[in-house]
Amino acid sequence: MTTKPDSSPKKQVWSHCNMCGHETVHDVVKQIRKSRDYDHGEYTVSVGTTWRILQCRGCHEVAMSRVDWCSEDFPGDPYMPTYFPPRVSRRKPDWLIRQEVPAYQGLLDEVYAALHADSRRLAMMGARAIIDKAIARKIGDQGSFAKGLDELQKANLLSQQERPIIEAAIDAGSAAMHRGHQPSVDSLNTTIDIVERVVHAEILEEKAKELAAATPKRASRATTTKAEKQDKAGR
Ligand SMILES: [Zn+2]
Repeated sequence: MTTKPDSSPKKQVWSHCNMCGHETVHDVVKQIRKSRDYDHGEYTVSVGTTWRILQCRGCHEVAMSRVDWCSEDFPGDPYMPTYFPPRVSRRKPDWLIRQEVPAYQGLLDEVYAALHADSRRLAMMGARAIIDKAIARKIGDQGSFAKGLDELQKANLLSQQERPIIEAAIDAGSAAMHRGHQPSVDSLNTTIDIVERVVHAEILEEKAKELAAATPKRASRATTTKAEKQDKAGR
């Protein structure tokens, strides 16, 4: 028994939308189907590829899907499309979309690209590299992560509650790098939460300094009194 996927062009399909961040109805704007039959005497095997241009009915974002199929596939097997661009498993936080973070941008972009491709080991290694970089930027090269964390704590840049979380992230990155550990989706998401928080904290600190420098200082009581005296004298 052989089966082929439905070859009639569908008008609408449910698909994950990167912009909406969840499954939405998509119009199938265009479908292209390519197939080839192989004659084996008593039976024929067909293989093919179906391409679809999809457009989200909510936000109008466009994506392309590709499904490779073979008539000998088990009838119950789902056809898993490949998407271009890949479906986003985790969106960048709004603050990261709104602004560039030059010190981390390249690493962050690669971490999100790895997340979207479900390359969890690479994403975890990248997350560790970002934390390492954040430590180096704060306190310079301290020789080891543990020493770096000690210095961060001494400088009140890391709280006692945050330390075990950062250590867990570093351990997970190290396990991915040296022992081929495949992190679970949950532990990876927790690590990315930490990475986003560490980088965001650095940005907020810089913004607070800029804001303080740009805000006119309130006149001291003594200055005000002197000004008032001069004002009165001028009358
Ligand atoms: Zn959408």
